[in-house]
Amino acid sequence: MHDLVTEYRDENGEVHFEKNTNLMLPPGKHPVIMSEDDLSYYHAYENQGIASKLVLDENGKVKCEYINENGETLVGDYDVVPLLSSFIDAHPDFSYHNRHCMIALTGYNGVFGYRTDTVYLTRDPEHLDANQAIWLEQHPEFDFDQDVAEAKVIADALKAEGYEFASHTWGHRRVNTASVEALKEDNEKWVNTVVPIVGEVDSIIFAHGTDLCGPEDYSYDNEKFAYFKSVGYNYYANVDGSVPVWNQLRDNYVRTGRRRLQAVSGDDRRPERDG
Ligand SMILES: [Zn+2]
Repeated sequence: MHDLVTEYRDENGEVHFEKNTNLMLPPGKHPVIMSEDDLSYYHAYENQGIASKLVLDENGKVKCEYINENGETLVGDYDVVPLLSSFIDAHPDFSYHNRHCMIALTGYNGVFGYRTDTVYLTRDPEHLDANQAIWLEQHPEFDFDQDVAEAKVIADALKAEGYEFASHTWGHRRVNTASVEALKEDNEKWVNTVVPIVGEVDSIIFAHGTDLCGPEDYSYDNEKFAYFKSVGYNYYANVDGSVPVWNQLRDNYVRTGRRRLQAVSGDDRRPERDG
């Protein structure tokens, strides 16, 4: 998404965007911007045939840990990240400047399968949900600081491989209906629990395919935009499958519509959903 524009800061430190007129892509290729949401391996995914966490293999590549039906722990390409990395390793011409994809993270169950939200440390009964309480009971060996440290190693390795990060809101919030106060509180949780792992970000991919307003331009009269902009978000994404491509490049922000990526053939056709 950052390649769509060139950024510059004026004397007041304000960031401005202009269309990147030097985006040189090979002829005959159809460019796509890829993003993956919710890379947390939520408790709700346990025993659903989904990987359990991201780990490094013996070569330092990010892979998935996957526990199969016989209880064996396997390490390999069991989800989007290592599948995409292996594909780009084999087909480097797929990727412009080795960009992989943008990973949009919530924080409430931690990130990458590591339980890095502070609720796992405080175990505050007011905020600890049933899934988290059960998980903590089943994992008496859990060490919060170790999970944070391991998640940071994964984040650094992902960045080195060509991935970048965005907020997906801490609590997978609907930004269209949540109040500004609720979104502010939610974003502060994200900054306190996810930024220490992935570093500062300037992008937010809204959960549930929601957005701050309709297709009209964002304006500072929109209190939610004014808030997100004031805390450093310049790149925004909703979900919009109604048109093949939708981008809004403006002096003070960049916004794009996303489509669900899936194989569509015959009976496999399903309606667009939030990714
Ligand atoms: Zn999501």
